[in-house]
Amino acid sequence: MLLERAERAGARIEQARVVSLERRGPGWRLKTRQGWVEADYCVVATGARNQLPGVGTKLRAEDTMLALGYYVAEEQEHIDIQFLPQFEGYIWVFPRCGHLSVGICGKGLPARELRRRLEDYMRERGIRWNDGVFYSHLLPSLTRASWQRNEVGGEGWLGVGDAAGLVDPVTGEGLYYAIRSGDLASQVLLSDAHAPQEKAQAYRAMLQRDFALDLEMGAALARRLFCGRILFASVPQRMLQFMRRSPRFRELMQDLFAGTQNYLTLKRRLLRNLHGTFLDTVLSFLLSRTVPGET
Ligand SMILES: Cc1cc2nc3c(=O)[nH]c(=O)nc-3n(C[C@H](O)[C@H](O)[C@H](O)COP(=O)(O)OP(=O)(O)OC[C@H]3O[C@@H](n4cnc5c(N)ncnc54)[C@H](O)[C@@H]3O)c2cc1C
Repeated sequence: MLLERAERAGARIEQARVVSLERRGPGWRLKTRQGWVEADYCVVATGARNQLPGVGTKLRAEDTMLALGYYVAEEQEHIDIQFLPQFEGYIWVFPRCGHLSVGICGKGLPARELRRRLEDYMRERGIRWNDGVFYSHLLPSLTRASWQRNEVGGEGWLGVGDAAGLVDPVTGEGLYYAIRSGDLASQVLLSDAHAPQEKAQAYRAMLQRDFALDLEMGAALARRLFCGRILFASVPQRMLQFMRRSPRFRELMQDLFAGTQNYLTLKRRLLRNLHGTFLDTVLSFLLSRTVPGET
């Protein structure tokens, strides 16, 4: 759909793998499997496994998480999410057309251990995976320090989506940020307000204003959300209990996972909506010293 729209708007689509690229004057020369292509500017949208040297963000091991799972021939109407003790990630069961996607994503564990945990869960739930199709992928999940030095552009190029590390470090979701960063990159490229050598800096500033600061805040929260303890229980356990008891907290969590509540204004909303000891406990645990610029 997006490709068709781009074509209708005048883009020429070349379906080819770029195997290398080199600077040629102010532009680029791209080598594809079919030949060479000249370009004035490069928008790097190659996903997390970008193999083109010198462009796109550089992901270190601690800036990634693995996602793997099975498509299984079963059906259910609802979504299941399972948190595991001391694990920065989660298991999901998502209904799809005619089958389920059952997967796990997480940080700090090798693929075989993630797969073992997923298969244990599926065994317990009676979900058969033997005839299922296995998938696995790398997701960017930048640490807070990496957000601060994230390379989203350079001389003659801008990175968008996973290739620029633009993924929510808590949920692993990146579809919205891929599309939005593509939109912002096109605005910077088409604007006459920035000279070519200023475009990367202008793009970085736009990303920060739009959503990157929020994702940086998410990176500061992620480990505490998954692995922290609050009132002698794990944070996910307590969050589920709070959601059952407090309609306001439930609403807030719904908005957080729907993406309509960002991480940066979470503290303000908690302050506005929740009261008393409960609020003090949640705030002091989750949000002290994490909001950029606040102590
Ligand atoms: C299992 C799983 C479930 C997910 N679920 C969700 C979800 O529910 N919600 C959500 O928001 N996000 C989800 N994500 C994350 C989301 O899929 C990504 O953040 C998003 O697809 C990033 O888009 P992108 O265009 O940057 O990269 P990609 O979707 O990875 O696309 C990059 C494309 O570039 C191509 N490419 C790479 N190198 C070259 C080259 N040299 N030349 C030419 N082409 C090249 C690749 O083949 C690929 O087609 C999920 C990810 C996984 C792995």
